[in-house]
Amino acid sequence: MQKQAESLCIRCGLERIFASKWVDKSAKGPAITHTRMVCPDKKCQKIVDEQLKERSDRLTAFRENSQKRKEESAKLRLEAKNAKLAKLEQARSSV
Ligand SMILES: [Zn+2]
Repeated sequence: MQKQAESLCIRCGLERIFASKWVDKSAKGPAITHTRMVCPDKKCQKIVDEQLKERSDRLTAFRENSQKRKEESAKLRLEAKNAKLAKLEQARSSV
């Protein structure tokens, strides 16, 4: 039997133990087998999970923010363009 690649807990450095295994079958491509390895110290693993969750939450928030900023700057650009056009229009009609 093949030995699992050694993976160490990112927090305490203990060798992780096998927790669960599942197969991810996507519509295309081969099925991928995922293995979940956890720290033998349950309390430690809980902290690691929380840290990971926090990080992914932050990442999601960051992505949403940058999307929002992109939309806002596009809106500002459009407004500036419209203002310029209006000015041009005004200059033309006053001649
Ligand atoms: Zn640990």
